[in-house]
Amino acid sequence: MKYEPAPDLLKDRVILVTGAGDGIGRTAAKSYARHGATVILLGRTVSKLESLYDEIVESGGPEPGIAPMDLVQTSAAPMLELADVINDRYGRLDGLLHNAAILGKLMPFETYDPNEWMQVMQVNLNSVFLLTRVMIATLRKSPDARIIFTSSGVGAKPRAYWGAYSVSKYAMEGLAKLLALEMANTSSIRVNILNPGGTRTRMRAAAFPQEDPLTLKTPAELMPLYLYLMGPDSKGEQGKTFNPDWLAG
Ligand code: NDP
Repeated sequence: MKYEPAPDLLKDRVILVTGAGDGIGRTAAKSYARHGATVILLGRTVSKLESLYDEIVESGGPEPGIAPMDLVQTSAAPMLELADVINDRYGRLDGLLHNAAILGKLMPFETYDPNEWMQVMQVNLNSVFLLTRVMIATLRKSPDARIIFTSSGVGAKPRAYWGAYSVSKYAMEGLAKLLALEMANTSSIRVNILNPGGTRTRMRAAAFPQEDPLTLKTPAELMPLYLYLMGPDSKGEQGKTFNPDWLAG
């Protein structure tokens, strides 16, 4: 689908982006701000969030919020504090992009390091559950909220040696579909899954070091899909999985 987002598509919307400091999340946060959203930048490296904050402000976007959080350690308490801050400052949340994830080390299942397993599950699945659970009440205050869960091809078809990353994305897709069912008739929240496919980022380079990054699409090329699923035009979508084919279709 050739989708041309309106310049003010996300005007007055408040959107929380996890893993906003780098890669696809950084580009999505900038793109949301460029289309009028107040973005709350959640990530673990404060310097990256601060430089993104500066970029958005210098380009004339609405002043973002910064939410430093290391999702590998985070319990519900700091997330509840963040929800309180969002409620106090904005009165609602209109969008949540679950983007942060770690790949973990690729290794055979038989020798998979249990500690590595727990960390990947914590960032890619447990923190996603916790943050969603904590933010639902604030998302319900929006007249037209969106949640996007970022998956991967290995969340629908496993790839040998990808261990916890693959399993975490399978489970996250299950979480998203379950939530979509529960939200469908009880709220105006739309819940969908986005698989960006191979994209030129640091994570992709770690997973495929032999690959020429210039052969891959950039995060910017994905933005029409990220905007569609975050904005009012996706009101009719619920519990679906999207990938870049949508952009070409
Ligand atoms: P990157 O590794 O480039 O960026 C990931 C972001 O998540 C970074 O900002 C990173 O922070 C943040 N992050 C990682 N761990 C934590 C943590 N413990 N707490 C808080 N923030 C954290 O990844 P991509 O942009 O490539 O991936 C984005 C999403 O897209 C992921 O969900 C990934 O699984 C998915 N995906 C990506 C594909 C690709 O080809 N790139 C393909 C399929 C799916 P910091 O910068 O501080 O390290």
